[in-house]
Amino acid sequence: MTYEDINQLIADNDIEVIRVVFNDITNVSRARNIPVKHFQDTVMQKGVQYPSAMLSVDTSANFVLAAGAGFAGGYGSWLLKIDPETFRIIPWAKKSARVIADLYTLEEVPVPVAPRSVFQRVLQELDKEGLAAYGAAELEFYIFKQYDEHGFDPTWTGLQCYSEIKQGEIDEILYQIVSGLAAVDIHVEAANTEYGPGQFEVSINPAWGIAQADVAFTLKTAIKEMMAQQGLLATFMTKPLTGLSGSGSHFHHSLYHKATGQNALFDPEDAYGLSDLAKHFIAGQLHHAKAISALANPTINSYHRLRPYTFAPSNVTWGLENRMCMIRIPGARGQGTHIENRLPGADNNPYLMMAAIYAAGLDGIRRQLPVPPPVENEDAYAKADASSLPKSLGEALEALNQDEVLVNLLGPEFVQAFTALKTHEINRFTDHVSDWEVKEYRELF
Ligand code: GLU
Ligand code: MG
Ligand code: MG
Repeated sequence: MTYEDINQLIADNDIEVIRVVFNDITNVSRARNIPVKHFQDTVMQKGVQYPSAMLSVDTSANFVLAAGAGFAGGYGSWLLKIDPETFRIIPWAKKSARVIADLYTLEEVPVPVAPRSVFQRVLQELDKEGLAAYGAAELEFYIFKQYDEHGFDPTWTGLQCYSEIKQGEIDEILYQIVSGLAAVDIHVEAANTEYGPGQFEVSINPAWGIAQADVAFTLKTAIKEMMAQQGLLATFMTKPLTGLSGSGSHFHHSLYHKATGQNALFDPEDAYGLSDLAKHFIAGQLHHAKAISALANPTINSYHRLRPYTFAPSNVTWGLENRMCMIRIPGARGQGTHIENRLPGADNNPYLMMAAIYAAGLDGIRRQLPVPPPVENEDAYAKADASSLPKSLGEALEALNQDEVLVNLLGPEFVQAFTALKTHEINRFTDHVSDWEVKEYRELF
């Protein structure tokens, strides 16, 4: 999309406000709202200033100034510069458009700790190997009428996964999701109720390169915003309800040879229909699984989900058409050959989750790591020789910091900033005396 196309869209749709947005390290969408004239005169070409200190705000809105590396001296300003390809009219907000931006220093160098830049760098590494990445995050989430310290009231009740009658009761919600997303060029393949009360799932069309993450980022904010306008709370928190279905964000993805356009994971001669490259790519993801987890499951809450017999993975395994494994290879072969990595929880920042998964797979390809046999005719959750996934954010963070390959591919400055923010989150949680403890112990002891 050119600047001219953008001006045309603005004129045709009578747009008055443009949101310049980006997804920060903790997976919060941050925006500056720019009146149309200033956008067209200045921001569209030159960007808009953004305080670098905002990249050291954790999920409690506390500053973690120790985040250090990669930050402008004295926490000065950076620039948000738009990516014109991402400009979209947003029909659910009044006379508004939205565009995704990249963070640059005032000297116009990409900021190494910005999640979109982290993913761009990993995509460039794939490009050096002649490979293009194509995929889609599948998103699960809950929509509540009420969800607070007084309890929860879901938009639908019961174990009604895929139930047509239940979906009929909430057809307005499904209609808004499908049509609202289509209006911003996100094409739903299927939307349905999931296992938990009030839980939904949306599968979308795959996209190339950075757009894979742009789409997931936009989908989350779009659904939250559209539901908020109905007085509903859509949450991509991974495990909102004790003992009930968690929300995953399985990542379906594939690699293609840039030179020929051929699917790089397919080999018709192989017993599994998988190329050697595919096997190394899977091996890399298995090898780095614990470190990937820090980015695919980046909150305290994410770790409640990784439990056996929940269709979320609990250990490092792969299998063909096996939903108990961390990596499932769906049945499609030929140009449609792809991998489903089931590790990510819904609360991940898609830029970082995808960067970590592709970086890990790329290392497997470069070092030609051997893949173990897939889990077959065996209970994957009970597989004795499979290593466990991290049990906590702290464990995952430690694995990330010890994983030299991933640290280098994601960028040491980024890992340092991410670790500072997440360590702060862990410390706040560790200091907190929970409701569970009070109920459990106050009378007993
Ligand atoms: N909710 C499950 C998870 O957290 C996935 C269920 C499914 O297979 O769709 O990964
Ligand atoms: Mg699902
Ligand atoms: Mg899935």
